[in-house]
Amino acid sequence: MTSPTWHDRARDLQIDGRAFIAGQRTWARGERQFDNHSPIDGRLLGAVARCDAADVDLAVAAARAAFDDGRWANFAPAKRKRILIKFADLMQQHAAELALLETLDMGKPIKYSQIVDVAGAANCIRWYGEAIDKVYGEIAPAPANSLALITREPVGVVGAIVPWNYPMLMASWKIAPALAAGNSVVLKPSEKSPLTALRLADLALQAGIPPGVFNVLPGFGNEAGSALALHMDVDCIAFTGSTRVGKQIMQMAGQSNLKRAWTELGGKSANIVCADCPDLDAAVAASVGSIFFNQGESCNAPSRLFVEESIRERFIEKALALVPNFAPGDPLDERTVMGAIVDDIQLNTVMGYIEQGKAAGAQLVAGGERVRLDTGGYYVAPTIFDQVSPDMTIAREEIFGPVLSVLGFTDVREAVRQANASPYGLHAAVWTSDLSKAIQTSRALRAGTVHVNQYDNDDITVPFGGYKQSGNGRDKSLHAFDKYTELKTTWIQV
Ligand code: NAD
Repeated sequence: MTSPTWHDRARDLQIDGRAFIAGQRTWARGERQFDNHSPIDGRLLGAVARCDAADVDLAVAAARAAFDDGRWANFAPAKRKRILIKFADLMQQHAAELALLETLDMGKPIKYSQIVDVAGAANCIRWYGEAIDKVYGEIAPAPANSLALITREPVGVVGAIVPWNYPMLMASWKIAPALAAGNSVVLKPSEKSPLTALRLADLALQAGIPPGVFNVLPGFGNEAGSALALHMDVDCIAFTGSTRVGKQIMQMAGQSNLKRAWTELGGKSANIVCADCPDLDAAVAASVGSIFFNQGESCNAPSRLFVEESIRERFIEKALALVPNFAPGDPLDERTVMGAIVDDIQLNTVMGYIEQGKAAGAQLVAGGERVRLDTGGYYVAPTIFDQVSPDMTIAREEIFGPVLSVLGFTDVREAVRQANASPYGLHAAVWTSDLSKAIQTSRALRAGTVHVNQYDNDDITVPFGGYKQSGNGRDKSLHAFDKYTELKTTWIQV
């Protein structure tokens, strides 16, 4: 018997779009719903609960009760650790289902849903589970007649709002450290891709996370999201999304209860390739591969490519030779490396930028059009603009699609100046064999992560976040605990 194809599995998949509050699946108050369509071919996946402020009140009350009675935070660390590790195990046991949901919901290739999204999210949950009994408090120097303890305590009820580009992975970067630190969580996934977050809640309950500790509310930003950010009983709001909404989140936190507010926002990452780069083929492959990965819908995509003029022509030639490898295909085919854009709104945004690039006089050397129109889905050909100047919109604004803007330079200091002349500061890269130039340039680049002679490395062990308007705070690594804990000082008279 042949094993079922991903299309067969998609036909058999059961989709439950109900919210998850206090350990139970439930429709939103008043049975409010919205239709969830797949960007792959426009098929209707099912109805999803359209939560609003009333549902947020219920979920926050459940999270508050769970936090206040210590049903999670007071478990022995070893027990919380076992439960989070079981949660990660369950995710791996359900890997095929989670990957399929992710691909159907947001259009990325099934191959990457498995090896990047499910594997990465499960690894993140496991890593923070493992960390629970490895984080110690401190004892401060104090006079002999006293003892000063410095301990970390959970901040309380954490609201997490995440985007649609890596739905499960972005959710796990928030919920794993927040739960590991002993908080209760109310998660609002994007209205464009709510399905995997809801399944995570089922698996968390099955793993032993008590009801009320982890709640998931699907819904729209201006209904469920703002109600969460404004809620007086939420102690911390952790947001990943656009800079525009990130600014609103900071305001809402300030105008309500001054809840701790953490933002992971947009990017326009600069990738500087010098003529003395150690391996031009590797630089081309990483530059092209990273901008087209996930259909260009990555916050850290190297969307501004600065190439030294003397190698520019050769670079473009080599890049164009690779473009056909990224032709969009059926996201449910294991061989596909580029899938569908998440929805028609984002498709129109991307196509609008492409038109702006053409109108501004940038030279379109690859792509620039929609493809696979017969599928009913939203696919854009991998697109490269050469001869882009720094003042063009496509060089300044985050496109969040498979569009690369190539700019030339003759002096690396000028490339760095232009790289830094952006409101964003998420990632950056420099390619050179000159060690001093590499160090000077990476020091000068104002970005949360700088890559030298590569672009692909990433790991749960290292912090992820931005300078400037790319946000504050850091996801991943032990540093993420800073977001979800309060430091307490306890003076004891001896
Ligand atoms: P978005 O800002 O439109 O939405 C993000 C989330 O916020 C969604 O859940 C949305 O429903 C919610 N939201 C929208 N309006 C809101 C409001 N008024 N109040 C509260 N919540 C609201 O962003 P998006 O289009 O979903 O995601 C793309 C953006 O996310 C890009 O800018 C990308 O760079 C960024 N991103 C950043 C990182 C990072 O780690 N820095 C990672 C992934 C994505």
